[in-house]
Amino acid sequence: MRFETAAIHAGQAPDPATGAAIVPIYQTSTYVQDAVGAHKGFEYSRTDNPTRHALETCLAALEDVPHAISFGSGMAALSTLALAVGGGRALIADDVYGGTYRLFSKVLSSHGFRFETVDMTDLDKVSTAAADGCDLIVAETPGNPMLKVLDLEGLARIAHDAGGILAVDNTFATMFVQRPLDFGADVVVYSATKYLGGHSDLVMGAVTLADDEFAGRLRFLQNAVGAIPGPFDSWLLLRGLKTLAVRMRAHCDGARRVAEWLAEHPAVTRVHYPGLSDFAGHKLATVQMAAAGEPLYGGMVSFEVGSEERALEVCERTELFFLAESLGGVESLVEHPGKMTHASLAGSGIEVSPALVRLSVGIEHPDDLIADLGAALG
Ligand SMILES: *Cc1c(COP(=O)(O)O)cnc(C)c1O
Repeated sequence: MRFETAAIHAGQAPDPATGAAIVPIYQTSTYVQDAVGAHKGFEYSRTDNPTRHALETCLAALEDVPHAISFGSGMAALSTLALAVGGGRALIADDVYGGTYRLFSKVLSSHGFRFETVDMTDLDKVSTAAADGCDLIVAETPGNPMLKVLDLEGLARIAHDAGGILAVDNTFATMFVQRPLDFGADVVVYSATKYLGGHSDLVMGAVTLADDEFAGRLRFLQNAVGAIPGPFDSWLLLRGLKTLAVRMRAHCDGARRVAEWLAEHPAVTRVHYPGLSDFAGHKLATVQMAAAGEPLYGGMVSFEVGSEERALEVCERTELFFLAESLGGVESLVEHPGKMTHASLAGSGIEVSPALVRLSVGIEHPDDLIADLGAALG
């Protein structure tokens, strides 16, 4: 099954009991057994639930791997992954989601992990850092908020040579655009809150992978720790996935047009977008972000406007772009990473320019979005 077909059909056969065309929301915690131990595959909804099961089947099909395991949020997915790794030395890209940095600096560093942030666009720096031990590399490409593009094959080689694994946060690109496992990654992590859900109406996470043994450990922890999504959120995510391919094409097309327009604007000093031919990671992105059969460069754009004051002004002046954290919904969002999503990096040594504005380009008509930005930039 091709991607668009799997999104509609994988795990989603008509309900055998009623013929319902859409997987029902099995809003139940428990399941009646015919005799002790004689059940229909479901015993208790922390362990498994039919709606969640359908969702995980669909996610695995979309990633084209045997295993997808869902969680109550992206952070729950990453935390459970860290528990499965069990501790040791972690290398974290310096262009990651602020909450990922916070998880390592404020939580995991007192629970068995030592970590270091590294500019992973420079593989020599990663190798040097890995020489002191590397059980886990957490990479995000394109990164957040600078859209840095990382060489997944290079990172996988370094992780494996050191006896560790490479986990890739693929929230920005999604599996429609980029398949990290094809480039040697071991595990893919998602905040499904973003593009996978796509409608800013749920918080969820997922991990996808091919390795049976590691998947078994994650599956065990999903139940043992219990950071699971509920049936209604699972249903919302299944619904979101049906349109992932069409939405991603629209996001990528809109973002490319917005980025090209920003690059020509006199008030804009720099544009970060992997689809711009003069962007540092463009060539690599063209290879890595081509799972759809042609390169697509994602729906996220960031740009600099000279000063923090100007950046805040732009954020507050747009009308179609809502001023809000998060990303990946059909509606466009604008935010100031320095004061919003990446405020938890304060004191980390990781620099986020105060003049930086980040856009999540929605699927509105690009001309309307450009007019809105034009008015905001003055
Ligand atoms: C939002 C986000 C997360 C965290 O996910 P939640 O669903 O908010 O817990 C992790 N990584 C990236 C890239 C994100 O954008």
